[in-house]
Amino acid sequence: MARYLGPSCRRCRREGLKLFLKGERCYTDRCAVERRNYAPGQHGRLRRKFSDFGNQLREKQKVKRIYGILEKQCRGYFRKASRQRGATGENFLVLLERRFDNVVFRLGFANTRNEARQLISHRHFLVNSKLVDIPSYLLKSGDTIEPKEKSRKVARIIESLESVERRGVPRWLELDKQHFKGKLSDLPAREDITIPIQEQLIVELLSRQI
Ligand code: SF4
Repeated sequence: MARYLGPSCRRCRREGLKLFLKGERCYTDRCAVERRNYAPGQHGRLRRKFSDFGNQLREKQKVKRIYGILEKQCRGYFRKASRQRGATGENFLVLLERRFDNVVFRLGFANTRNEARQLISHRHFLVNSKLVDIPSYLLKSGDTIEPKEKSRKVARIIESLESVERRGVPRWLELDKQHFKGKLSDLPAREDITIPIQEQLIVELLSRQI
């Protein structure tokens, strides 16, 4: 599975926004956006005015970086969203939120989506009591998520659960921290996705390209 292996903080600095890609560090003053709030590279401090295309592109890149997906997957989600009823932009974001790695992160079983992805592919999690090791697996309302009995001793899972209160669990998820159980009580709605994303710009860009 291809994925980005470069420096994470650079990606936040490029977007001028905390994308929370590094777990605990993102909540401390060691965060690169707090310390150097300008774009990376030699010309990073120059003020830039983006064209319409530039704004659309940045918005798409932001979403890809937040959810840790590559271009081909992004277009796949967009195609799927455009075939669904309702606003394509909202459908697109809801599809991304329903990814298994995102839900594991949101429930607090992992500190970042990257960590969630690794734990899933290392076969630590069950969906409806069956092992699922595909990070992009799309969950539906009513699905239950839990680490395997043996995996409840994994330090990374225990440590991330300890700090889940600070991040908060979204309305559409239920977490029983004591018993290591999570559930999708509902599907996410647009207002549940609080990350500042202007999905309309992504729709304008991708609907021309695919
Ligand atoms: Fe982004 Fe700051 Fe976290 Fe680095 S520490 S990934 S800059 S939010």
